[in-house]
Amino acid sequence: TEEQLHCIGCGAAIQSEDQAQPGYTPQAAIKKGLESGQLYCQRCFRLRHYNEVTDVNITDKDFLRLLDNIGNTDSLIVNVVDIFDFNGSLIPGLQRFVGDNPIILVGNKEDLLPKSLKRSKLQDWMRQEANKQGLYPEAVILTSAKKGFAIERLLRLIDKYRQGRDVQVVGVTNVGKSTLINRIIKQRIGIQNLITTSRFPGTTLDRIEIPFGDGKNMIDTPGIIHKGQMAHYLTGKALKLATPQKEIKPKVYQLNGEQTLFLGALARFDFISGPKGVTVYVDNNLMIHRTKMANADNFYTKHAGELLQPPNQEDMAAFPPLKRFEFTVSEKTDIVFAGLGWITVKPGAKVAAWAPENVDVVVRRAMI
Ligand code: GDP
Repeated sequence: TEEQLHCIGCGAAIQSEDQAQPGYTPQAAIKKGLESGQLYCQRCFRLRHYNEVTDVNITDKDFLRLLDNIGNTDSLIVNVVDIFDFNGSLIPGLQRFVGDNPIILVGNKEDLLPKSLKRSKLQDWMRQEANKQGLYPEAVILTSAKKGFAIERLLRLIDKYRQGRDVQVVGVTNVGKSTLINRIIKQRIGIQNLITTSRFPGTTLDRIEIPFGDGKNMIDTPGIIHKGQMAHYLTGKALKLATPQKEIKPKVYQLNGEQTLFLGALARFDFISGPKGVTVYVDNNLMIHRTKMANADNFYTKHAGELLQPPNQEDMAAFPPLKRFEFTVSEKTDIVFAGLGWITVKPGAKVAAWAPENVDVVVRRAMI
């Protein structure tokens, strides 16, 4: 009998039968992977090499079981979220499964924040938003898995709250969980790829375990795909163009009433009325196009995928229509487009924010 192979990226059992299921890897790639000693499933391979998120058909039933299993353990839960997609990265219903287990909230991708943003303010906001969802974290911490910021601090927090228990690391896809886990492995164990995998009982999902050395493990659960993530609607290049890659440089626009800004074809911001001056915090290279609001509908229909990119023409076909949210604000406020960034407006501004269906627009007291 053949020995079951596992992906060293996500831990899924390698298979070449069903492309829609976790662990799918073409035969040729399995051979290559084994030869190089680095066997990745197709999804992880693409993520590593092309920064592409491939949808994996993980049934709700599996996830409910997985979350159930987490709830039934006595463990510390570490929930990794993307600070640029906070609402998109919250796991629906997580609070029901956390039970009495303590939880640490990790806001990843801190390196993207402008210097002028007070970290403590963001942490407070994260805590409030978590509370709204019924989650009461013991600690909130900002990390950069990419740059290796605050990894030691996170490990100390984990040790403080773990108290001899297992640690379950949970998060939706694309928050940087794999990058973070790799950092932790490097820092704590010094040996890369020292990962064992084992199945979550009762599910088709696999998990990765990193031993603490006291018989307990840090358990990395599979990333959960959340429909509210902008990343869900974009592929490789478009995703890279849409998500901030470097520290964000704010851009100020002196908008008149009834003017519109398009953020590529991804989102739209109507400045209906109010005091001039909005500040845009999105990827430095994302194309921002200013136009008259009266003409904006037509403009979008005509130019989305062409003049307005990303997404490009090809991806536009599968891109959901933009949905409108209107806000009138009484204090300095951030209009947050999940996954993209935010636009800060002055008190008294009346605006409409448009984002793809399922992708959230939320308001918060201005961070800067
Ligand atoms: P996972 O799906 O949660 O395991 O996420 P990955 O670790 O595969 O990361 C998803 C994307 O986010 C990749 O493009 C990473 O390079 C990027 N990423 C991960 N951590 C960070 C971070 O701390 N800062 C920035 N700027 N990008 C990050």
